[in-house]
Amino acid sequence: MNPFTVRLDLHGDLDFFLRTEARGQRIERSLSEKTSVKDVIESCGVPHPEVDLILVNGQPVDFDYAIRGDADIELYPVGTGTPQFKEQRLQATTVSRFVADGHLGSLARNLRLLGFDVAYDSQAEDRQLLTVMEGENRALLTRDRRLLMHAVVRDGYCPRSDFPEEQTIEVIRRFDLQALLAPFSRCLVCNAAFERVDKKDVLDRLEPLTKIYYQDFRRCVVCGKIYWAGSHFGKLQSRIRQIREAVGSQRKRGN
Ligand SMILES: [Zn+2]
Repeated sequence: MNPFTVRLDLHGDLDFFLRTEARGQRIERSLSEKTSVKDVIESCGVPHPEVDLILVNGQPVDFDYAIRGDADIELYPVGTGTPQFKEQRLQATTVSRFVADGHLGSLARNLRLLGFDVAYDSQAEDRQLLTVMEGENRALLTRDRRLLMHAVVRDGYCPRSDFPEEQTIEVIRRFDLQALLAPFSRCLVCNAAFERVDKKDVLDRLEPLTKIYYQDFRRCVVCGKIYWAGSHFGKLQSRIRQIREAVGSQRKRGN
């Protein structure tokens, strides 16, 4: 087979995955054998779960499409790009359950605070993450691009920001979760749902001042931790308000 050339244009924020000096430029690759478009994309550093639309010479294709000759490849992330080709999008946006890798503890906690089901174990190894992801149908959150490129990963996202608050906003936008926010409905420690409990049933576990000032209590159905609208509550509420505002303003800018 004669060598041939593929040229890639990355849209939206996909050039995040390129080396700094390569950003904003067209990528050229020389190939000498039939190669799946997925392998071409990942050899440039972009994990497949980040790509929502692939156009090869203007036509939408899926990840298995084989490149056999000169080609212009355009890549779009979720939420950007052409209004056409709605049927050929490659990523689901309906995922609302996650598994986060061990480096994303604050993100996991933030998402739980907003009511989302996030499996998290700070000690989890890659294999465990993939097992939980597959077995429980969760999207993988990780900044390990190699892990995100693993063939079994269907839904996943690499947070761009180093900061948990911004990462949280990114995840809400990426998976279109705005309508699903349910703050204070899930245990921050173990991810289980709350149940309402009568004050009298938890009285022996409350500090004296808590007994006096608070009437409404919830209990985690798994670990038994008791929650109430205590002194942290105001701070948490303002954090949630900030996250909501940030998501709203970024959406307006994006439209
Ligand atoms: Zn719990």
